[in-house]
Amino acid sequence: MALAFDEFGRPFLILKEQDQKTRLRGLDAQKANIAAARAVARILRTSLGPKGMDKMLQSPDGDVTITNDGATILELMDVDNQIAKLLVELSRSQDYEIGDGTTGVVVMAGALLEEAEKLLERGIHPIRIAEGYEMASRIAVEHLERIAHKFEFGPTNIEPLVQTCMTTLSSKIVNRCKRSLAEISVKAVLAVADLERKDVNLDLIKVEGKVGGKLEDTELIYGIVVDKDMSHPQMPKRIEDAKIAILTCPFEPPKPKTKHKVDIDTVEKFQTLRQQEQKYFDDMDVGATLVICQWGFDDEANHLLMHRNLPAVRWVGGVELELIAIATGGRIVPRFQELTPEKLGKAGLVREKSFGTTKDRMLYIEHCANSRAVTIFIRGGNKMMIEETKRSIHDSLCVARNLICNNSIVYGGGSAEISCSLAVEAAADKYPGVEQYAIRAFADALDAIPMALAENSGLQPIETLSAENNPCCGIDCNDVGTNDMLEQNVFETLIGKRQQILLATQVVKMILKIDDFNAPAPMVI
Ligand code: ADP
Repeated sequence: MALAFDEFGRPFLILKEQDQKTRLRGLDAQKANIAAARAVARILRTSLGPKGMDKMLQSPDGDVTITNDGATILELMDVDNQIAKLLVELSRSQDYEIGDGTTGVVVMAGALLEEAEKLLERGIHPIRIAEGYEMASRIAVEHLERIAHKFEFGPTNIEPLVQTCMTTLSSKIVNRCKRSLAEISVKAVLAVADLERKDVNLDLIKVEGKVGGKLEDTELIYGIVVDKDMSHPQMPKRIEDAKIAILTCPFEPPKPKTKHKVDIDTVEKFQTLRQQEQKYFDDMDVGATLVICQWGFDDEANHLLMHRNLPAVRWVGGVELELIAIATGGRIVPRFQELTPEKLGKAGLVREKSFGTTKDRMLYIEHCANSRAVTIFIRGGNKMMIEETKRSIHDSLCVARNLICNNSIVYGGGSAEISCSLAVEAAADKYPGVEQYAIRAFADALDAIPMALAENSGLQPIETLSAENNPCCGIDCNDVGTNDMLEQNVFETLIGKRQQILLATQVVKMILKIDDFNAPAPMVI
């Protein structure tokens, strides 16, 4: 700070920019960063596993979300510390690539940082710790591949897939319906999967929800469900062997772009104008029995359509329109002139279904020419429940997709982590350098997952975490009576677990290497 005078002799203070910033260096920076990241991990720790707690988050505009999904909790948490944001990113990348294990990955990163802090206190250089962690993660991943199993399934034997999806769903709020939701997810994924090329396009699965009914009413529809109804109440509600025109142009006679004056002073002139307008619709008569339009249409058009017995649906969203085109094998037509019979989509049955006593109606397009697009239609007591079910179904769909792409599994309930921890611990002796401490610390950090699972289930962690060398031995969260996850049918995908270890290590290494932390001071008004 310096004192200076302006040309009128008035004093003013010059503040150096540096003074307005908080700046931490060296060990202080690392410790502050670790503390911030651990604070985030601590929040998620209690949500891990089948007995994990749920979090309730309120957005600034008052929307409430109740969830158990790590990625969603972090997304809505509004953190403004840069290091904490790295963990939010971490969870997001796990969600993006794998879709499941978003809580686990953050808990693991938190545990790695906790162990790193102890090593820093003992004077070990952060680069050494980072290198040790890197080596340990390689050992852990190799070990994972060794203990992984291949498991067989086919279009007729879907039970193993269902079991794995059930493990994912068992730690969610919707776990009372885990069996039926798992079956729905597996059937949906198989419907859109190309088993030979081991490829699944999840975009072909539409997840739609409507408040009402109960979770058990959730169903899989081999076709598309659109939250729209026919544009006129007197149009038919059920069309068999529908030929569908899919339009992205407004369904009304073209209007002049500039102002014109049309004088209609005789009945004849009026009739001519009407005939002109009607002719416009006659011209596009290519045999369609249903029109689906991205835009609206005016009352006149609606009336004409109704008189011609041509049911129509308006204001259908772009994504839905695309799915309808894929499912029915039709083409999206941007201009009336381009409409030809070959461009019409075909569906065995289109029906409008109403729900309860409300005016709510939805349109079901089923038995489509190309049955590869499906819809999961969720019912539930309130909007929050539907949203959470959507998130859980997303996880379960991702798990089924991952298994179809790569059918290796490891056992869940913390068993894979315990087994890797033992392997890393055993391998540590081979490294004579300081890294050995970091490798051992990595092994301890792996135990954090089973520990958290045990704590969250109200078990005594020390008693529960016995050092048996059985890769299936995990935490009996649901008190079934056995620790053997093979017997309990608790699986996780190998790629998911591997990704968790690799991503968590990467982020922790990144945080450890930061030794200068420069942030603007909070504004004081
Ligand atoms: P994530 O978002 O990381 O998937 P979850 O809250 O879904 O977190 O918890 C997943 C953890 O719970 C995994 O380690 C999984 O193995 C474990 N788990 C799930 N079901 C069971 C079960 N029935 N018994 C023991 N552990 C389970």
